[in-house]
Amino acid sequence: MSDLFSMMETITKEHAKMIIKPDFPQHRPKNTKRMLDIVEDKDSIKVYINSSSINLLNECKQKAKYVLMDKYSGGDTPAKTYGTAVHKAMEYLYTTPIKDRDLVKMHDKFIENAKSLELIEDAHDKHSITNGLTLLSQYFETYCNDPWQVVELEGKPLVEHNFEFRLGKAYFLEKLVEIYYHGTIDAIMKNKETEQVAIFDHKTTGSMHLSRNMIKPNNQFLGYFYYANLRLDIKPDLMIMNLLEKKNQIAKTSRGIIPAKLERIEGYYTEEEFKEFETSVISNVMSLLDCKGGGVWPMNAPNACNGFSGCEFQAACASNPKLRKPILESIGNKQ
Ligand code: SF4
Repeated sequence: MSDLFSMMETITKEHAKMIIKPDFPQHRPKNTKRMLDIVEDKDSIKVYINSSSINLLNECKQKAKYVLMDKYSGGDTPAKTYGTAVHKAMEYLYTTPIKDRDLVKMHDKFIENAKSLELIEDAHDKHSITNGLTLLSQYFETYCNDPWQVVELEGKPLVEHNFEFRLGKAYFLEKLVEIYYHGTIDAIMKNKETEQVAIFDHKTTGSMHLSRNMIKPNNQFLGYFYYANLRLDIKPDLMIMNLLEKKNQIAKTSRGIIPAKLERIEGYYTEEEFKEFETSVISNVMSLLDCKGGGVWPMNAPNACNGFSGCEFQAACASNPKLRKPILESIGNKQ
């Protein structure tokens, strides 16, 4: 592949620099695996939360209890393995200077992390090694030499960037509640031609219809903007979502049936929306503490149960509550 790109212009890697604001509190930035932690003592409660937990709380409180409090989950699925492998391949690409980028190495990164997937040629299977390699080749050919370059923070490229910060505080039953928000940003990039700064996110799962809607203001992306705007010395101009889904798939949307393809979608958010994000996180934390305190976790049946690909807890919810434990344990790994 080096031949293929030997004609490409070799550019000097000039990363934009950014700094952390002096009052930025660093809290366990490496440990972002947990979705939710609640640490309670006599006078205060510390809640560590991320966008996936907030989405679960909005979707169904009962589901949030199963996953966040009881720690039941289906463990690794082909979709999760596929997503991780694509992200690792993209990380390789973004952290390698343009002149050194090599498609074979990018493919190797994917295969290394996708070993449990089978080489399936079935056109309907999105999570095969074949599909991943095809999409990554398309991505490489389209974007290898594009003007977006990774921004650095204190000498480190902002790729797969784990963060955690204190979002705010509130009171619950006269106890001080401190809320810490965490997440991982796929990449923060600067366009060397337009000087714009964008937060990049790669979507590899879900239907095309859902993925396209993801660019609208949502907890995950607003959280990234909130963090970059208020905690880093940077104001991102836009969100860029890379859709890495199979080209010959089709998706139903409000505009009819359209073919899926590799594409980038842009989103722009306002300061009012960041403010709403803060309020929404605090109110979700309060409702979580309410459910936990009262032991009542409402079920959002039937809509949440039958949403995209169906809820994995349907059998448990449909059974007598006294008989749920063995069903939940059969669902899988505790986190
Ligand atoms: S089956 Fe329905 S009610 Fe039960 S956890 Fe899932 S979404 Fe909630």
